[in-house]
Amino acid sequence: MPSYEERGLPGRHRTILVVEDSKQNRAILRALFEGNYHVLEAADGQEGIELLQKHYETISLILLDVYMPVLDGFGFLRFRASDERYGNIPVIVATASNSLDDEITALKLGANDFVVKPYNPEAILNRVSNTIRLRETASIVNQLRWDVTTGLYREDFFFRRVDNLLAAYPDHAYDMVCSDIRDFKTLNERYGRESCDRLLHDLADKLKVALPDVVSSGRIGGDSFGFVIEHQQSDWTAILDPLIRNMGVAHLFVRFGIVQNIEHDLSASQLCDRASFAIDELRDSEGAGVSWYDDALHQRKAMERTLVESVQEGIEQHQFKVYYQPKHDVDTGLVAGAEALVRWIHPELGFVNPAVFITLFERNGMISELDRYVCREVCREIVNLTEAGLPLVPVSINMSPLDFDDHELPQRVLDMANEFGVDPSLLHLELTETAYAEDPDVVVHALEELRTFGFKVELDDFGSGYSSLALLNLLPLDILKIDGGMVRNASRLDDFRIIRCAIQIAQLLGLETVVEGVETAEDVQRVRDMGCNLIQGFYYSRPLPQEEFEEYLRAHAKG
Ligand code: C2E
Ligand code: CA
Ligand code: CA
Repeated sequence: MPSYEERGLPGRHRTILVVEDSKQNRAILRALFEGNYHVLEAADGQEGIELLQKHYETISLILLDVYMPVLDGFGFLRFRASDERYGNIPVIVATASNSLDDEITALKLGANDFVVKPYNPEAILNRVSNTIRLRETASIVNQLRWDVTTGLYREDFFFRRVDNLLAAYPDHAYDMVCSDIRDFKTLNERYGRESCDRLLHDLADKLKVALPDVVSSGRIGGDSFGFVIEHQQSDWTAILDPLIRNMGVAHLFVRFGIVQNIEHDLSASQLCDRASFAIDELRDSEGAGVSWYDDALHQRKAMERTLVESVQEGIEQHQFKVYYQPKHDVDTGLVAGAEALVRWIHPELGFVNPAVFITLFERNGMISELDRYVCREVCREIVNLTEAGLPLVPVSINMSPLDFDDHELPQRVLDMANEFGVDPSLLHLELTETAYAEDPDVVVHALEELRTFGFKVELDDFGSGYSSLALLNLLPLDILKIDGGMVRNASRLDDFRIIRCAIQIAQLLGLETVVEGVETAEDVQRVRDMGCNLIQGFYYSRPLPQEEFEEYLRAHAKG
């Protein structure tokens, strides 16, 4: 006879608890199970309970006699039902033939199957192994299917369900709603995993009730849930607003992305991606909200995909062009520097602004390669200017916060300058304060190194975000660059006072100042009166392509 394992039956390592008062019957059963199962024996219900309490974690099945002294089989079943730890262990009850009443009572008390006495070896062995296998398979399936924290389907199972659903009902209209909790990571750190699991559980419960006509639901990642519902004509704001407000009271900001009337040939995972693209649109807004995946978003996403897919080729084929925007000295009025600003002349999309692709490349990590490319192009241009005998001015390069992840950054920039024979003092590096926020020590160290090598460091966009004056002291800087928006919006006297104050503090710290984004003669005058050193802005010039920049230098720089 093939072994239990060979027949695919649960085998040797499972433990069976036999609760049976007849010594002779226990001996028969032991002989029957021996070699394939580990057997624990109890002579009555009470002994059975004691063994159960001690070994419940390893017992796979209980074979239970009904009539026994001290405590009978029904008493034993009642005890088992009283504690959920034991409820998972299946029980086969041994009854006399023709005892239907006993069977019904046992079933009511949670028994799973019956064998009839006297014991028939083949029948018992099969029932025991079938029952164990059924229970184990069911518990594996459950673990695979359900997320224990929320009671929703797990992601992969949810996706499969939805894919099947969409294929099975091609003409039926559904919506996909995905939820996401803002800053869940921070909540997790602050309140601990257990509390946050409870939050997730509560939210899942509330959503199941609040969303109408839910067809399927799943947990798609840490703090995101997906719901497929019957297509709704109704007002989403009316459905979701009360919930958003309700959760907001507990400082839980829930955001929703909705794909309406979903296309059936898309996969569930693509649909969830679309819903989260919609959620991403809320990123900058305060707290919670609802956002839809619509045509405009669809087109933007398609364009972003094209851009991401063609960036490598773009770099190789020199589709990226560096433009130069002059910076003028307030005292002499001459060009005293320039900022390198990259543009993409895309073969299909034409002229693409950095505002479109820089954040995209910051998201997918391509930005550092682009910044290296720009640095190389700038070095090349400085060599050009030198060879053409044109006036030389320092050129600033924009650094993304991600560039500082590379601890070799200062050495790499130095190597590149050396490769072209460019004096480091002709290269300025502009960084934003977000770089500092990422990893202060690393950034400070990199800046110190860059300055030791002779490069100059500018703090960009000062005044545009949550700029802190303390940062001016923490960062090893040479130049403070005050954001253009601050000047243009400075309609009130107070705003000008703030700019003046920033310039004065910079001066106290020995920093040069540049005010950028200056558009009118009036602003030039004001900024000059405040004592800033350099001015950059449309008033003087827009960013210029290389040849025009060279012309500009010829006309406006000290030769
Ligand atoms: P930024 O570093 O703040 O650059 C200044 C932006 O202001 C430029 O936009 C410039 O064209 C614009 N600007 C200059 N003068 C004026 C003015 O008088 N009025 C107004 N309204 N705007 C003015 P641009 O070229 O579109 O660049 C946008 C941003 O893209 C830059 O902001 C910078 O953060 C980023 N960027 C550009 N090139 C690069 C690069 O090579 N690497 C990295 N990492 N980022 C870059
Ligand atoms: Ca800049
Ligand atoms: Ca800037």
